[in-house]
Amino acid sequence: MMPEAKLPDLPPATLRLDINRDALVGNWRALNALSGGSADRAAAGAAVKANAYGLGAVGVARALHGAGCRDFFVAHWAEAAELLPHVPAGGIAVLHGVLNPAEAAWAMATGVVPVINSVAQARVWRDAGGGRCHLMVDSGMTRLGVPRGDWADPAIAALEVDLLLSHLASADEDVAQNGAQLARWQAARGVIAHRRASLANSAGIALGGDYLGDLTRPGLGLYGGIARPELAPHIAQVLRPQAALLQVRDVAAGDALGYNATFVAPHAMRVGVVALGYADGFLRCWSGRGVLRDAAGAALPVLGRVSMDLTIVALDAASALREGDWLTLDYHLPLAAAQSGLSQYELLTLLGRRFLRLL
Ligand SMILES: *Cc1c(COP(=O)(O)O)cnc(C)c1O
Repeated sequence: MMPEAKLPDLPPATLRLDINRDALVGNWRALNALSGGSADRAAAGAAVKANAYGLGAVGVARALHGAGCRDFFVAHWAEAAELLPHVPAGGIAVLHGVLNPAEAAWAMATGVVPVINSVAQARVWRDAGGGRCHLMVDSGMTRLGVPRGDWADPAIAALEVDLLLSHLASADEDVAQNGAQLARWQAARGVIAHRRASLANSAGIALGGDYLGDLTRPGLGLYGGIARPELAPHIAQVLRPQAALLQVRDVAAGDALGYNATFVAPHAMRVGVVALGYADGFLRCWSGRGVLRDAAGAALPVLGRVSMDLTIVALDAASALREGDWLTLDYHLPLAAAQSGLSQYELLTLLGRRFLRLL
């Protein structure tokens, strides 16, 4: 057995996510107001699955709970376990539902609420003792959820449904599918007894009116993503990835930079090597096209290939920078998505575990 050595405190991190708590809380308040809620009555929940889209589920859930948010959505039971010490169990919903008796028993023991997705899941929940649950119906996305033909099944009718939910497939577009899904969700509300009903994600909130139901479930918009242009005036940027400059180098004309020498210095120049790479989610699609900035905002373009732990930038615009200085990645989500070809969702969920999350 290893002796229990007490390690000295870690030296300061060289990679961090600057998360603006006021912007996060402000985005939830704005989406709550657009959902028909007020300071006293939360009409918006929060999708905090996938570690709150990479921002850190515990920090996000604590901040939003403090602001009045009462319904938190995760995908896996392990994600619920992480939240349990920080928000009430009955306010945590597990979207994947109960696949087997072990999951149902864990839900029973903790008070975390499953989202039942099928007749089979309804039976698992019933056989474990049942009680309050949520129910996902398929309104036309054909992913998880009870298909229309099963809505009258006795196992579904016997459930004690708090939230009757469905999920929009194309709310970020103006297409007929939105209206068709709304109608099918409303039909489900007429057939299945429930306390509250929920349809809209971030984009669905912008559709307004009947799409809002009793509770909305934004994720992307909380974290600064713009799901539809109408939401842009309401949403502030939350997150800025930052990395320290590890080495400053003066290179000569003709020097080849990084893997496969995709950048060759056309003249003598000063470059910096930064503690950020594709293992952190700064994928190789940013090679030769990403931009970092110094504290004054000067643009420092990425030179050559992004490697696993390191990226090289041009320092011509900021030649006074020194080793240890922090650089900030340009990461305005809609712009970064247009530049990289990645979705705003991927840009968030990619961010790796080496970032110190400041929230
Ligand atoms: C992820 C998810 C959401 C949040 O969607 P956004 O587009 O990020 O707002 C809402 N509901 C369900 C069922 C989800 O899986």
